[in-house]
Amino acid sequence: MSTASAGSTVAPDFLAPDFFDSEQVITCHDRATGLRAVIAIDNTTLGPGFGGTRWRPYATPEAAVIEAQRLAAAMTLKHACADLPYGGAKSVILADGPAALQGDERRAALLAFGEFVARTNGAYIPGVDMGTTPTDMRVIEERGGRAFCDEVDPGPYTARGVYAAMRAGVRHALQRDMDGVRVVVQGTGQVGASLARFAAADGAILSVADIDGARAQALADELGANVVDPHEAPFTDTDVFAPCAVARVLTADNASRVRAQVVAGAANDTLDSAEAGEALRAAGITVVPDFVANAGGVIQVHAGVVGWDESTLAEALEQIGGRVDGILAEAQERGVTPEQTARDLAAQRLTKAAN
Ligand code: NAD
Repeated sequence: MSTASAGSTVAPDFLAPDFFDSEQVITCHDRATGLRAVIAIDNTTLGPGFGGTRWRPYATPEAAVIEAQRLAAAMTLKHACADLPYGGAKSVILADGPAALQGDERRAALLAFGEFVARTNGAYIPGVDMGTTPTDMRVIEERGGRAFCDEVDPGPYTARGVYAAMRAGVRHALQRDMDGVRVVVQGTGQVGASLARFAAADGAILSVADIDGARAQALADELGANVVDPHEAPFTDTDVFAPCAVARVLTADNASRVRAQVVAGAANDTLDSAEAGEALRAAGITVVPDFVANAGGVIQVHAGVVGWDESTLAEALEQIGGRVDGILAEAQERGVTPEQTARDLAAQRLTKAAN
């Protein structure tokens, strides 16, 4: 367990964080609207804490706090590895039931949340995540705080970066391009569907899975793909498994069931523990670190902030592949997991920035 404290340069560990792993955790309650939210600012060494706002139900308030902290820590790693001038942060809004608020109620809740964001005085900058949209970000900004992703949804850019990372994983593990490679995509939402289209266009043989069976079937029909059971997707006989849905699908307990030779996807926090990464490495499976693969969205945000043109942005997204090449080669040489190598890279950048 990491003992990182305010201003620390120690990269965060796996598993549930200690409450004091984050620089700051703010629980928010607006009595008028009933809004309950958590803002976790993990580390501001590289800049203001930036990370999306996730709006979903949680079994307990503690689960919401832990998710915010874990995801905030992943944002620290993501920004450090991508060499971006932002710290790591994340927020969650606790949905009362499975259905998200709509209309005036949603707007009122977001304005209340915007007030809490404004109070951080720029230390926290929200963006879109599961359950929130660019329109929501514009409402949050009405209270005077800054929000990113208020015009463009980063999903398609994330998919481009994940695809560059997947190709690098396949180059490393299988020494081939994507033509004829079997790929299973778990989660056919914004990112997973685009990713599947990129791979299919390059001749990959696709299988897709989603808890929304109709969504998976529609994509399968479009691409001539198979549909597989969403919960069995990680264990399908395939070359590449691309987790693009929920967190922590690979664990030390289920690692022995993974048949893919490469794991590369968009989902944050795919491995539930360092032990899961070790077990997959021991089985000869190449796991591309999620926080390196899925940086395309934050790179697109940064491009907007600093005014890059399309070709500079496209080059930066492709560079994710080069970064993955380097991490996989170094991990192999050192005999450690790619995740550990990427964490060490992030820690070096944080230490350098702090000194
Ligand atoms: P999305 O909400 O558009 O799609 C997620 C899909 O996963 C949905 O179709 C949902 O039905 C499906 N799903 C949920 N649980 C599932 C399960 N157990 N098995 C199979 N399918 C399941 O989300 P997205 O924007 O495509 O993001 C996908 C993942 O990538 C998320 O984990 C997200 O945090 C991560 N991510 C997204 C971005 C981005 O820019 N959108 C950036 C970085 C990371």
